[in-house]
Amino acid sequence: MEVHEAKPDVGYRFIGDLQIIESASEKEPVPAFLERIGIEPNFYFRGVDWSTFYDHRGNGRVVRSGKPYGWFIRRGPEEGSLDRGLLAQAKALGVNVVFNSRIQEADIIATGPATPDGLAREMTWKTDEPERIDVFFNHELSPGGYSYMFILDGIATFGCAIVADFKKIDEYYEHSLAAAQRMHPFAMPAESRTGYSYMNFHLKQAATRDGARFVGEAAGFQDYLFGLGIRYALTSGHLAARSILENRDFDELWREQLGPKQETSLVNRFLYESGGNVGLSMFVRQASRARDFHRYLSGWHQGRWWKRLLAPIVRRVWRHDGRCMHKPGAHWCRSRDTEMKVPPLGPVV
Ligand SMILES: Cc1cc2nc3c(=O)[nH]c(=O)nc-3n(C[C@H](O)[C@H](O)[C@H](O)COP(=O)(O)OP(=O)(O)OC[C@H]3O[C@@H](n4cnc5c(N)ncnc54)[C@H](O)[C@@H]3O)c2cc1C
Repeated sequence: MEVHEAKPDVGYRFIGDLQIIESASEKEPVPAFLERIGIEPNFYFRGVDWSTFYDHRGNGRVVRSGKPYGWFIRRGPEEGSLDRGLLAQAKALGVNVVFNSRIQEADIIATGPATPDGLAREMTWKTDEPERIDVFFNHELSPGGYSYMFILDGIATFGCAIVADFKKIDEYYEHSLAAAQRMHPFAMPAESRTGYSYMNFHLKQAATRDGARFVGEAAGFQDYLFGLGIRYALTSGHLAARSILENRDFDELWREQLGPKQETSLVNRFLYESGGNVGLSMFVRQASRARDFHRYLSGWHQGRWWKRLLAPIVRRVWRHDGRCMHKPGAHWCRSRDTEMKVPPLGPVV
């Protein structure tokens, strides 16, 4: 088996930053999920059950959960990252990984995002400051997104993610950083690693083309609410492998497991953006008042009847003027100017 990677190493678009594999969208906790799909946690892997959320007025509220709502990992080419851990496991299984090899055709296409639906700027550095998981919800500082300051095990990551006004990412980043430093002053080295990267989300009826299976963000798989795509990438990659080994239809497999989730996450994102800063304040308040943040977040991921009713309306009216370069074919996304005839997602009978 061969894997082709366009860059000279794994994880090239990331900078050793802390990211999280969320554990609230499914009943199966992340360690059990990884074990089921045959992945060993041979990388930095730390479950977390607390965080501090800030609203646009700077009110900070602590959220806590009975069990981890996610597991932090690191991304990038460095030792201890998810990317390097997966590479080691693939090689141990005899996979031939070919670097500097940009190819167009394969059985499984996992080429990542193709066009910006969301954009983030991040910095990461070593620190001896106290641990924190701070998330700042303020549409003025990060339109449609959020900014975050994670310090865990001596690694700090500050980031600002937005879904609009991409040309001003540096301004939003600087203002978000200044606001975070006003809240809790923290030192940053003059030279720390900075990265820009984008994210893709779209809804489709098929993630296949000419026999190729598209997985991860190349197929727009992502939890659109917070722009979290790792669990989707791992799940869709595993399903693509199963479809080959078991000679099953990939589109049927992912539609059953991921289709309804994607539709719910579209509605969640619509609510997140259209509720403005008042809506975000309510979210912060409710999350902190909930006895168990994991359970509260799980509630957001559940496909309620009213979300199913709202989904087609959101798809019809919720648009922007961006460019669309999504793969692989007919789909719905916010920047498409023509209405695609994409029926509601879900298991195919
Ligand atoms: C700043 C930032 C923070 C994020 N934080 C989180 C988080 O905390 N939690 C979370 O769940 N998600 C997070 N995400 C999203 C998550 O990182 C992605 O959803 C996930 O990496 C998608 O995985 P993928 O395999 O689809 O694509 P990628 O991880 O982008 O991998 C695609 C790979 O394909 C290679 N490639 C591209 N084209 C070709 C080609 N033609 N031939 C060969 N190789 C090619 C690329 O070089 C790249 O290595 C974040 C994203 C960003 C930008």
